[in-house]
Amino acid sequence: MNNFSYVRAGSVENAVSEIGKAETAKFIAGGTNLIDLMKYNVENPSHLVDVGRLPFNKIEEIDGGLRLGALCTNAETAYHETVEKKYPMLSLAILNGASAQLRNAATNGGNLMQRTRCYYFYDTALPCNKREPGTGCPATEGYNRIHAVLGTSEKCIATHPSDMCVALAALEATVNVQGNDGERAIKFEDFHRLPGDAPEIDNNLKPDEIIVSIDLPEKGFSENYTYLKLRDRASYAFALVSVAVGLEMDGDIIKDARIALGGVALKPWRDKDAENLLKDKAATRENFGKVAEKIFAEAKGFEHNSFKIELGKRAVVRALEQAANGTPQTIADKEIK
Ligand code: SF4
Repeated sequence: MNNFSYVRAGSVENAVSEIGKAETAKFIAGGTNLIDLMKYNVENPSHLVDVGRLPFNKIEEIDGGLRLGALCTNAETAYHETVEKKYPMLSLAILNGASAQLRNAATNGGNLMQRTRCYYFYDTALPCNKREPGTGCPATEGYNRIHAVLGTSEKCIATHPSDMCVALAALEATVNVQGNDGERAIKFEDFHRLPGDAPEIDNNLKPDEIIVSIDLPEKGFSENYTYLKLRDRASYAFALVSVAVGLEMDGDIIKDARIALGGVALKPWRDKDAENLLKDKAATRENFGKVAEKIFAEAKGFEHNSFKIELGKRAVVRALEQAANGTPQTIADKEIK
């Protein structure tokens, strides 16, 4: 680990000003990803701005929805009474991620900012376009079992590791940020980026901007929802494929559908055209199968991860069945139903 300076920000203005003092300055809060990255020499910030004591630690109701403070921990959010009652898909997704210890330290803002778990990204003996632009992507020809099958580019085929973000994408959350130019709101679907020609840039935050809060809209899909996570072991593992589903039902007919996938792309993956196939349609396995086919129609597998395409289709169908039946997968029940 390299030497770095450290300052604790006393206000958001102070934090934004401090981050501009060095090109490689970084905000830190829970530190559950950044400290790992520093120990591996993947990230080498010269200046750390600790934002952990800024007053972004409340969960409060707003205009029928809910505002999640960026500094609330993942555990505080998952177990918050209103989140459990009105946005159970989000609660379930968070509790499927990491471990209890990590969820107690990791913050909501940090969850959005965490970086890929691509093995090559963490191995500084090897090239990686995300870590060192222009050096190449060994994953495309290497061991790519955990990598993406949707939205990849020649430059990078990594995935985004978050569970929480998959539910936030399905819920159509908004990310509130603040920087030198003031405050702005970013739609969740516009927050993270696909790799394209610049895989080193994970999201659309400006360098001086800090996440202040995350807004959940009124609609929480609390009756018909699920978060289905498929992974190599039952806990403390990243998703090979995960699916967040929220349905609005009128009897057996689907009035509105949201489907977001994790583990398949560098951002939570949504296909609104596929979701629209379910509008005013019956909740049948046949209709769910058509949606799954549409989502993965453009999927591209690599040597070790082509299985994700069929797995993903089946996971979409299974998740839609669980949501339509009002029987979400619980994290205590490891048998997939
Ligand atoms: Fe780096 Fe992306 Fe390739 Fe992984 S997939 S080695 S993060 S460029």
